[in-house]
Amino acid sequence: MNPAVQLSLGDDGVLVATMDVPGRPMNVVGEGLMAGLAAAVDRLAGADAKGLVLTSAKADFCAGGDLDRIARWTRPEEAFQAVQDMKAVLRRLETQGKPVVAALNGHALGGGLEIALACHARIALDDERLKIGQPEVKLGLLPGGGGTVRMPRLIGIQAALKVLAEGGDLSPRKAQAMGLLTALAKDRDDLMARARAWIAEHPTARQSWDEPKFRFPGGDSRAPAVAAMWSVAPAVAAAKDWGNYPAVRHIMSSVFEGGLLGFDAASEVESRYFAACATSQVCRNLVGTLWFQLNGLRKGASRPAGPPRTPVRRLGVIGAGMMGAGIAHAAAVAGVEVVLLDSSAEAAERGKEHARGLLDAAVKKGRSHPQRRDEALARILPGTDFAALAGCELVIEAVFEDRAVKADVTARAEAVLCPEAVFASNTSTLPITGLAAASARPAQFIGLHFFSPVHRMPLVEIIVGHETSDETLARGFDFVQQIGKTPIVVNDSRGFFTSRVFGTYVMEALAMLAEGVHPRRIEVAGQQAGMPMPPLALQDEVSLSLSLHVADQTRRDLAAEGRTVAEHPGTAVIRRLCALGRIGRKAGQGFYDWPAGAQGERRLWPGLAELYPPAAAQPAQAELQDRLMFAQANEAARCLEEGVLRSIADGNVGSIMGWGFAPFEGGALQFIASRGVGPFVARCRELAAAHGPRFEPAALLVRLAEQGRALSDEAIAA
Ligand code: NAD
Repeated sequence: MNPAVQLSLGDDGVLVATMDVPGRPMNVVGEGLMAGLAAAVDRLAGADAKGLVLTSAKADFCAGGDLDRIARWTRPEEAFQAVQDMKAVLRRLETQGKPVVAALNGHALGGGLEIALACHARIALDDERLKIGQPEVKLGLLPGGGGTVRMPRLIGIQAALKVLAEGGDLSPRKAQAMGLLTALAKDRDDLMARARAWIAEHPTARQSWDEPKFRFPGGDSRAPAVAAMWSVAPAVAAAKDWGNYPAVRHIMSSVFEGGLLGFDAASEVESRYFAACATSQVCRNLVGTLWFQLNGLRKGASRPAGPPRTPVRRLGVIGAGMMGAGIAHAAAVAGVEVVLLDSSAEAAERGKEHARGLLDAAVKKGRSHPQRRDEALARILPGTDFAALAGCELVIEAVFEDRAVKADVTARAEAVLCPEAVFASNTSTLPITGLAAASARPAQFIGLHFFSPVHRMPLVEIIVGHETSDETLARGFDFVQQIGKTPIVVNDSRGFFTSRVFGTYVMEALAMLAEGVHPRRIEVAGQQAGMPMPPLALQDEVSLSLSLHVADQTRRDLAAEGRTVAEHPGTAVIRRLCALGRIGRKAGQGFYDWPAGAQGERRLWPGLAELYPPAAAQPAQAELQDRLMFAQANEAARCLEEGVLRSIADGNVGSIMGWGFAPFEGGALQFIASRGVGPFVARCRELAAAHGPRFEPAALLVRLAEQGRALSDEAIAA
């Protein structure tokens, strides 16, 4: 018997096929599983079998395609043939004449849902945690197992396009309401009983699309309402992704063309689009970073292996402002007791109220229950007395960004903490090693840099000071994972990794403005390049006064060390706007006018044209995009060179999850790798000649280019 799919025939003639791919935590669609399904179809042909129930022995039904296998394909032909083979099995499954029911005991995602769609009925456990969907698009892929063919035929083109092109998860109830599921079951026994009953009630079964008079629900691609949708859908998609995600277009094309063709022709068209996606550079970038590298980090690639994993049971947070309250909320939701301190009882209470607001909103949106909310809130203990920190395994300070204030709370906390406890700073700009000077035990001092707003941002940048021990790093790393965030680990330096590299994006835009590039062109270039926000608007959000404060502080710090660095040409722009009181969104005015009220739309400040008159000849958009992106990628390479970054994975994942570096590029370092180190270096030199020495390529890249080596952790270490 095929080990991936176990078969057992009951007395009632129902053949139960149980997927259990060996050696994998979840069922993945690959050769083993498909061979097992083929064997199940063969067995179903026997006279003693009346129908088939397909289910899983794992917690999930099936999690989707085997990405290890997809990553190995280099030629489109391989990808095409692989999905054609899969489809042949699924086609036999649905056309052999006997009823087949998918019993979804857990997640049915990607290829898993496609297998279920090839069954005649789908029954799922009524459990809100169970996910149903086609997430392929998020990794630059297209559902190639018939998803773009069967789903539109089952629920209509418009509804299917939303599921396929957006890649979101559906709960079983939602999926049933849309017509993707036949029924829901209350538990596993009920699930199997209902599946068997469906078979008994439908002794012969055919898919609707195999009926001679089949019509698409809502009409095929020519139907007026559908055709009207097709006339705008590509433009709507382009407005969102600027054409950077070819999978979205390929999915639309596959559904559109499939909506004019018979089933088998549509199926082959889908395989061709699948092959185009699966072997595209964008897919390699997305899968490489957001699958392989991200999973590697989650499994602890940058955590020291020695220290055992230990959960934090009691956390101290000092400073109940925007960040401290956010951290307290995240920890309380994850089941950690939080002592939340501020300098007044009112301020500490306000921090808890912030958490209450977030928890209430979650209940309102159906993402939490009142009981869970109340339990989480009860874990937050607001106050002013540092003695309450006794018993905390970890304390995070999020007080004002001021060395003296931070030093004071460090000493007061350490006075009551047990000897093993770790003290962390959430500073965004102050080097950790310097802050650790205020600590009596700098080996237990670390940076845990959360991003704002904490409840939305998935990343925490962990900063290792010169004296931070492995045990301390492990404790910080485990805690970040305990509260459901993704950690990257970097060494100490000014601006660490994320703030330092992110800053180059905005500063380059400001330099352009000073040169007379039209601000609208700058903003569009940022979005065309795949950044989530245009740079000038982003600078307004961050606040110009804050950036100026950091720039001045940095200059003073460096001067104290006897160093001077040339000021970035963008700094003068910030200084000039600040002098006019245009300090950003919080003041209602910066590069934009920000009308009050949620509905007010930002508008570029007309006065900007007088301060920085646009030049008569404007550069090409591609040049602007390159400047914005090469500046970031080159700075990320410098972070590698200086040892601020400890691995390529930390850099790529950190850049996407930290500040939204164009995900389709696979992150700031994959940006270099995908172009090739040599071409990247050559382009940097062109940019340096045209725009200034800040574009001189990182020495590390020059060395790799000379050696003819690709960018890899091994090459850097060599
Ligand atoms: P905030 O001003 O909103 O909050 C600071 C809080 O600390 C205030 O409630 C204040 O009363 C309290 N506080 C000050 N001195 C104290 C003391 N001696 N004892 C106890 N409480 C004290 O500031 P924030 O935006 O939450 O930032 C806090 C820290 O997080 C800063 O170091 C900042 O650089 C860092 N950070 C901020 C962001 C951001 O986007 N705001 C992002 C990452 C990191």
